[in-house]
Amino acid sequence: RRPAPGRLRLDNIMLAFGGVRAIDGVDLEVAPGEVHGLIGPNGSGKTTTLNVVSGYYQPQQGRMTLGDDPLVSGRPQARAAFGIARTFQTPRIIGEATVLQNVMIGGTIDGRATFLETLLALPRHHRDERHLEQAARLALEAVGLEMLASARADRLQHSELRFVEIARALMLRPAYLLLDEPAAGLSSEEIKRLGSLIQAISRQGTGVLLVEHHADLIFDICDHVTVLNLGRVLASGTPAEIRVHKEVVSAYLGA
Ligand code: ADP
Repeated sequence: RRPAPGRLRLDNIMLAFGGVRAIDGVDLEVAPGEVHGLIGPNGSGKTTTLNVVSGYYQPQQGRMTLGDDPLVSGRPQARAAFGIARTFQTPRIIGEATVLQNVMIGGTIDGRATFLETLLALPRHHRDERHLEQAARLALEAVGLEMLASARADRLQHSELRFVEIARALMLRPAYLLLDEPAAGLSSEEIKRLGSLIQAISRQGTGVLLVEHHADLIFDICDHVTVLNLGRVLASGTPAEIRVHKEVVSAYLGA
C-alpha cells in the first residue's frame, strides 16, 4: 500500500480560455479522508477546477501540490500514478465490453499508458488478469453492481454506468477521488446510495472532491464546502457555515 498521502492543495490557480478567466486565483485544500464539496452556479469554474486537478488542463498560474510533491506533469495518466482518479459528467464507458472489463481497465492505467494502450494490452499475463479480475469484482461489489459483472456495458442504464465509473476509479486505490456531478440523472433512492458510497470511500482514507448540483447531497455528506462564483472562491467552510453564508445564499442557493 502506498504511504499515506498528504493534503491536496491548490494555491492561487488561474486558467483562462482566450482571455476569459474560467478560474481566477482559486485556493482549495482537501485532506485525506475528507469529502470536499465544490459548488457554484453554472459557469463558475467547477469543472475547470476538476480538470486542472486531474491534469486535463494546465493552469496558467498558481501551484498545485499533493503533500510535498508538486503536481506538474500534463498527462492525466500521470495523475493516476499520483493516486488521483476521477469520473466524468458523461460516463466514459466502452459499450461493447462487459461491465467487469470496463472496471478492470481502471486497474491497469498507469503513468505510461493511455486508455487505448491499456485496453489493447489487457490482459498481459494470466496471473495479472486473475488478480485484476478479483479486484474488479470487489470494486463492483463495493458499488453494489456485482450482479451486472458480465453484462455488456451498453445494456446498462445511465445511472448504473455512474456507479461503474466509480468502481473503475476505485481500481486505482486512489488517494483522491474527483467526482464530476455523480448524482446527475439519479433517482433520490440512488442518490442516497451514492452518498453512502462516497462516505464509505472517504472513511477508508480517500479524499473526495465532489462537484455536484444536488445541494442536499452536498450538505448531507460533505465535511467541507467550497463555493465558486465567476471563477473565484466566494466562500469556504463547513456545510453549517455555508448554509447561512449571506453571499452564498443570495448568489447561489437562491433563498
Ligand atoms: P461550471 O463547471 O461551474 O459550470 P466551467 O468550469 O465549465 O463551470 O466553466 C467556467 C467558465 O469557463 C465558463 O465561462 C465557461 O464558458 C468557460 N470554459 C470552460 N471550459 C472552456 C473551454 N474548454 N473553452 C472555452 N471556455 C471554457
